[in-house]
Order: sequence, then structure tokens, then C-alpha cells
Amino acid sequence: MCVEDAPPPSSRMTRRGVLAAAAALAGTTAALTPASAASAGAPSRRGATGADLVVEGGTLLDPATGEVTEDAVVVIENGVVRAAGARRDVAVPQGAEVVDAHGKWILPGLVDAHIHLNTATEARDAVRQGATSARSGSTNFYQDIAVRELARQAPALAPRLEAAGVFVTPDLGDTILADPDLTELARLEGGVRSAEALRRVVEVNLARGVDWVKTRVNERAGLPEQDPLAQVYSYGQLREIVTAARRGGKGVLCHSYAEQGCHDAVTAGIRSLEHGVFVGERTLVEMRRRGTYFTPTLSAIAGLAESSDPVLAERGRTYLPVLKQAVLAAHERGVPLAAGTDSSGGKVKPIGREIELMHSAGLSSLDAIRTATTGAARLLGLERTVGRLARGFAGDVVIADGDPLADVTVLKRPARVVRAGVAL
Ligand SMILES: [Zn+2]
Repeated sequence: MCVEDAPPPSSRMTRRGVLAAAAALAGTTAALTPASAASAGAPSRRGATGADLVVEGGTLLDPATGEVTEDAVVVIENGVVRAAGARRDVAVPQGAEVVDAHGKWILPGLVDAHIHLNTATEARDAVRQGATSARSGSTNFYQDIAVRELARQAPALAPRLEAAGVFVTPDLGDTILADPDLTELARLEGGVRSAEALRRVVEVNLARGVDWVKTRVNERAGLPEQDPLAQVYSYGQLREIVTAARRGGKGVLCHSYAEQGCHDAVTAGIRSLEHGVFVGERTLVEMRRRGTYFTPTLSAIAGLAESSDPVLAERGRTYLPVLKQAVLAAHERGVPLAAGTDSSGGKVKPIGREIELMHSAGLSSLDAIRTATTGAARLLGLERTVGRLARGFAGDVVIADGDPLADVTVLKRPARVVRAGVAL
């Protein structure tokens, strides 16, 4: 068959139907009803409408400058920071809800630059663990688009999310059932490989409103029967994907492991390299030159090492030190890094865990924190609103029990999280 003959993926009814199904699957429709929102621990109406909130008394860390301000006050109005700084410089509004942060540290909400949020429960878990912004690493049925909407309607229930829609991969699996505009691809022998088929999956995603396009160059590490060093798309195929995504004004994040695959993906023009365990020197040089981000998802690889499957456990144990070396080499060469947990399948890992692993790879505490604040915010194009607590930035706050510069592990279990001016 020729997918070029197919009509463009633009039917409004189709889009509405598809996204309603995504919302139902993600459970976000239920999350938006008052009763379920209350049972999910949603904030009061007052909080949800973004009345004033003041965080006061703690030590404020600005990841952009590394500056530390003791006895700080952060004033949030309508979900946005109106003022942040030393108590003497900040006027505290009357009648605002106050979060006492004495003896604690105040940081901007964190960013998880690679997470798979399939349900409203996962979205809520991510926020409560400090990821107030996130980028999706794809979902099988566009659930991330539904979660993105949930975050807009009820910010306390989900991270501000950039969606990636469905995976551009040779075998679409059950995703074939996600969308009438994809079903025809099931007839293709050998899966999604031709230039037309690759373009089709990208264009369907764009028509559904994705912010990113997710693809892969290598097989998966998390399945014992797959060889993560085996390459599934060539430079030319990756170039088709990148070009189609760019036509829609979107960047590509690419799952990768082997050096040749990393190199092909980076030179094809991807925006960020995901996992990238065996990324080599020549590719890092190219990434630095192009400003390509590295999202190593150390948490995911560390998680493999704890697998009950011996093949996966061995893979995790061998890969983790190699990946840590790659992270440090990238950092030393000026390749921008972004923190991502690659959480999926119901278990949301705290983004603080990724910061901890970035630090254990050799980054300073401040640089490790930057991978989940200013650095990741820039990757998401949110550097003017996310990653710092300053006037005009999002009212997303993580309050930590101790000094994260002395011990980054305090970020794994935030004492309190504020999302868009709502204390959770
Ligand atoms: Zn992933």
C-alpha cells in the first residue's frame, strides 16, 4: 500500500474522538470532576483559583546564579511569582496563605525531561515528588495530551507537560488502535520504515497537537529479548522524521544506546539524545556544536540493575558506570544535560533521584540541580518561566528539609511542593 494516497490527518471529529479516548484512558476526565478531585487530594477552590500564597523563612536557592538567600520570602499571585528574595526586600500581602519554610530550603519546582505519564495518578505522583514541569517520552494512546490538558485545567493535579504523542517506531504495536489515521499502517510489511510511513506517523502526531516527536534509533534495553545496540533506523530515516517534525515546528527526542546510532541521530538533527549510554567522543563534540541536549535517564538504567530478570540486571550493572562516564564527559565538554527519570508503568520515580545520580556521575550539586531546573527548562523552551523563582516565573516551589548543595538527596523527598501557587 502507499500511505501517500491517504487523506491528510485533519478530521476534527477524529481528533476529538481520539483525544476523548486518550482522556478516558488517562483517567483525567474523572480527575476533573469535583468529587474525584477532592478524593485525589486536590486543593480547595480557593487554592485552585490561585489566590496569594507566601512561602517564607527558608533559604532560597537560585539555580541560575547559585545565589543563596537566607530568610527568604516568595510571593505567588495567581499562580505566578510576584516577588522573591530577602525578607527586607519583599512586601508580604495581607491575608495570603502562608507556608512556613523556616529551617528549610526553597527551590523552584523541578523538571522531569523524560517521563511517561499514562494516568492521572501518575501525573499526581510526579507533582507531589517535585516534578512540577515535564516532557513526555510518548504514550501509547496520546494520554500525555490528556494529561497536558489536566495540568492546564487543574495545575495541582499534574506537571505542566509537553506531550510527545505516540512513538515513531517500526512496530507501533497496540498504538495502531489509538488512532484511525494510523490503523492503515498495520498493513505495512516490516512496519513503519518507508519515508512515507515515517512522515505519516509524525504528521498524525502533529495533527493531534504534540509538542515533541519521539523516535528511536536503537532497540530497547528494558526487554531482555531485545538488543539495545541493534539499530532500527538509519541516518536517512531519522532525517525524514526530523524534517517532518521541523515542518510542524517541533523538535525530536531520540531513544538511543549505541555510538553509531547516537551519531546518526545527532547528525540527523534531533533536539535531545535519550539514554545514550555508549555515546562517544565524536558525537559529544557534535552535540556541543549543535547544542543537542543529553537526557541520560540514569534512574532508568540504575533501575534495570535492580531487575529480577538476570539479563536486565546484568545490563543495568554494566551500563550504569559507562553512562555515568558519558554524562561527566558530556558535562566537561559543554553538552547541555537534562534530568529525566523515564518513569513508566505506574511507578513514578522522584526527579530528585536523577539529580542524585547526576551528582554521583561527577557533577557538582549545583550543576546536578541545574539539569532539573534551568537546564531542562531551556530544553523545553520554558527558560523564561520555569527553573527559577523570580518575578514572572511560575509559582512552582520545592521545599527541601535540608541544604541540597550539601546533600542533593534531600530533593528525593520534598518536604512540601507548591504547584502554581497551590501548596500540596
Ligand atoms: Zn522513555
